[in-house]
Amino acid sequence: MKVARFHAPGDIRIEEAPEPVAGPGEVKIRVRNCSTCGTDAKIYKHGHHHIRPPRVMGHEIAGEVVEAAGAEGWAPGDRVQVIAAIPCGACGECRRGRMTVCPNQESMGYHYDGGFAEYMVVPAKVLAVDGLNRVPDGVGFAEASVAEPLACVLNGQELARVGDGDDVVVMGSGPIGCLHVRLARSRGAARVFLVDVNAGRLEMAAGLVRPDAAVHGEDVVEQVLKLTDGRGADVVVTAAASGAAQEQALRMAARQGRISFFGGLPKDNPVIRCDSNLVHYRELTIVGANGSSPAHNARALRLIADGAVPVSDLITHRLPLSQVLEGIGIVSRGEAIKVTVEP
Ligand SMILES: [Zn+2]
Ligand SMILES: [Zn+2]
Repeated sequence: MKVARFHAPGDIRIEEAPEPVAGPGEVKIRVRNCSTCGTDAKIYKHGHHHIRPPRVMGHEIAGEVVEAAGAEGWAPGDRVQVIAAIPCGACGECRRGRMTVCPNQESMGYHYDGGFAEYMVVPAKVLAVDGLNRVPDGVGFAEASVAEPLACVLNGQELARVGDGDDVVVMGSGPIGCLHVRLARSRGAARVFLVDVNAGRLEMAAGLVRPDAAVHGEDVVEQVLKLTDGRGADVVVTAAASGAAQEQALRMAARQGRISFFGGLPKDNPVIRCDSNLVHYRELTIVGANGSSPAHNARALRLIADGAVPVSDLITHRLPLSQVLEGIGIVSRGEAIKVTVEP
């Protein structure tokens, strides 16, 4: 079979590999869609300390079961979606239900071969934490593969308590930003504003997800304050790896506002300036977000199936496995919303 393997930063190869064999407690799937995101672009450029090469990449995975003899409850033909982040299920955090911050977390495409392959084995550890989800009828494989990033977005908005009547600002109009806009609407947000420094990408995203305003320029804080009659936004989500965006987010939040630092910052530059008195007097809440739990993935699939968060129109590019590198290039240049690979 064909796979896309990471060997070193800047070195991803399309190679022939033997089909993997499912062991006890494992399920083998025919990958139908594995979508790409900024994380793949980051791995391609810099590698990752959890990836020991060579490793098949790809973590936004949907496909069809072809072999399930070793795993109870699954049968060939089952349509499935696979979690990306695998909690251990046994540590103190997992036992408290905080699976997104499991310190023993492993990941598909990092610790295990991922979905940029024709076939893939779902590790027993994934099955043990209910990380293999049935794709609801009516949901295609490409849409199902987007359940993983949507699950992360859902985790972020739960932590930031996005709800009825909120004015929400989303900073960053990539695929994650688009999912944030749509999810905020489905959770009852009053108005959603989309901000980006890249005018072209903002225009493309705004055309699809139709925010109440698309905000761009040097003075985004002032623009958001103006749009909210000086109040600021109830929730600001930074869906960009930008310290400047995080600093702006703090300044455009309303009193008792919640700020989600959804996107992480570059490891070599993670420190921002924060006016602590803004947090103190305005009773701001700053929350993080680290991936998603298996339960978030299941709920994200439901949101897609119910039409609460449509995703099919966000998939702007479909590429064969042989063009993975082009896909990653398109993602890193910000030319697409969502790129999916169809091995
Ligand atoms: Zn991803
Ligand atoms: Zn754990």
